[in-house]
Amino acid sequence: MRSSIQYRGRFAPSPTGPLHFGSLSAAVGSYLDAKHHHGIWLVRMEELDTPRCVPGSAADILRTLEVFGLRWDESVIYQSQRTDAYEQVLQRLQALGSTYQCACTRREIADSALHGIDGQIYPGTCRKGVQAGREGRAWRVHTDDSLVEFDDTLQGHIRQHLESEIGDFVVKRADGLFAYQLAVVVDDAFQGITHVVRGSDLLYSTPRQIYLQRLLGFDTPAYMHLPIAVNAQGEKLSKQTLAPAITADDIIATLIAVLEFLLQQPPAELRQGNVEEVLKWAVANWQPEVLAGQSHIPA
Ligand code: GLU
Repeated sequence: MRSSIQYRGRFAPSPTGPLHFGSLSAAVGSYLDAKHHHGIWLVRMEELDTPRCVPGSAADILRTLEVFGLRWDESVIYQSQRTDAYEQVLQRLQALGSTYQCACTRREIADSALHGIDGQIYPGTCRKGVQAGREGRAWRVHTDDSLVEFDDTLQGHIRQHLESEIGDFVVKRADGLFAYQLAVVVDDAFQGITHVVRGSDLLYSTPRQIYLQRLLGFDTPAYMHLPIAVNAQGEKLSKQTLAPAITADDIIATLIAVLEFLLQQPPAELRQGNVEEVLKWAVANWQPEVLAGQSHIPA
């Protein structure tokens, strides 16, 4: 029974720049949920996509978390140091006959694919083998059309037919880097994560992760996808949409704004408190249910 297992949650930022309001909200939401359940809260640096990582930003993110009183309970793990573990799992998937090599270029996929709920649906071009004269460089996982279903704590019952809605997905990219979908599954299992609390932009990735967990015999954590912070155009706050970095200027006001974004109702007098007092109130009074069904909220 899950209730007898200690809660282990995590925040898994990609160090592609400093934290902004949206990523800080995900950090705070995952921290509050873990601490409300007297759980362990971990931080994992997802710096797999090395071309997108910004030097110094992992350290910068950790400093910001500390300034906001968000203390992690065990050593931070870095995906850049976990390549052997990903390689072993890829070999297991290969031995299961669940993978194949793919030679398609982005352009070829864009030309032949349908657009689905989470990007292009891979049409299965290389499923029966790479065309003569072409070189398979990426590795994909075979999907099938059985239904993958799960109950998200906030977003309700999610159902996906992977083969027709997503297509066979990449686990090792043509540039030799392991894909997020593989690494996140390996690391959540490695860290014994029981509860994943993250932004709703990853809601439709979850069935791929559950599919891999089942292939590999890993437990499936509980999932809670928080609303993401969007700008006036409805775009996710991110480096790409030029979201401002969180600064250490007015920590209490920022923390209260994050709590209000998460539809918590901090009392006015907390504005006079310190970080520990604000977090203590927020942990004790954490009510994620008020966010049910909310996937995007203007910040
Ligand atoms: N690294 C991902 C991101 O920053 C989050 C992954 C996760 O929480 O599963 O968007």
